[in-house]
Amino acid sequence: MEQAPYRVLLYYLYTDIADPEEKAAEHLEYCRELGLKGRILVASEGINGTVSGTVEQTEQYMKDMENDPIFKDITFKIEESEGHAFKKMHVRPRPELVTLRLHEEDVDPRETTGNYLKPKEWLEKMEDPNTIILDARNKYEYDLGHFEGAIRPEIDTFRELPQWVEENRELLEGKEILTYCTGGIRCEKFSGWLVEKGFHDVNHLEGGIITYGQDPEAKGRKWKGRCYVFDERISVPVNRVEHVVVGKDHFTGEPCERYINCANPDCNKQILTSEENEVFYLGGCTHECRVHPRNRYVEESGMTIEEVESQLALIEASQSEAVR
Ligand SMILES: [Zn+2]
Repeated sequence: MEQAPYRVLLYYLYTDIADPEEKAAEHLEYCRELGLKGRILVASEGINGTVSGTVEQTEQYMKDMENDPIFKDITFKIEESEGHAFKKMHVRPRPELVTLRLHEEDVDPRETTGNYLKPKEWLEKMEDPNTIILDARNKYEYDLGHFEGAIRPEIDTFRELPQWVEENRELLEGKEILTYCTGGIRCEKFSGWLVEKGFHDVNHLEGGIITYGQDPEAKGRKWKGRCYVFDERISVPVNRVEHVVVGKDHFTGEPCERYINCANPDCNKQILTSEENEVFYLGGCTHECRVHPRNRYVEESGMTIEEVESQLALIEASQSEAVR
């Protein structure tokens, strides 16, 4: 197989960064000079990034990072890609890399965290009947793909996860907990929080779903669907043995793995839907979003008011048919 001309690097490291503002500015300049594109966050607790570039550019980046005493322990997840996964290069200073607590000091994963499981150990543990698999990601990520049997917390952002756990404690009590996320950064902090909250057997998947899908032994087994990622690719495959579609079209419930943002700019919710249904429903997740005065789909397709009206009538007719 011919090597893809581009690569996407996904990485994070919890480490001490004395002056995140200064480090971010310096790192941005360096990344631009190198020709990378992507999104990097720098905080006093460490660094988290996804960048894309040619094989040579990404090789150089990894080499330079390994030579930097602050970043030498970073593990890079390397994925091949047809092109860049971002349009621009951003490096931003932040108070934290990922935020779990709003009003108190966040958990420091360098001090408290659960057990790390390698992909093969994770695969074996998932089969143990006394374990419970808890997805540490948001519901729209879960809906596109997840581990077989994993619990789906009803959350839209990571910050809501602690409250969800408090409200659903009985699901987890007395069980060995297995938690996972895309690249490992969220569950490393989350498992530390679980330990602080008195849960004893807490494990998380080292390197996250991305590493699991690349592991030559685990081969992504027991993963269903695709893995949501935060760049222009939107999702990547995980299970190298079999692919089962779990995503469902927002409008019809048919199998679907295509995400769009609702065309109402004030809603912007991520929904799974086919191209055909996006056209039919004017890109809007609800009636309110379809008739929103700044509906992007209507604007971009240049529809007249009459055309929108007649489409709304068709939608209404199809819905009353479905009810009957
Ligand atoms: Zn909407």
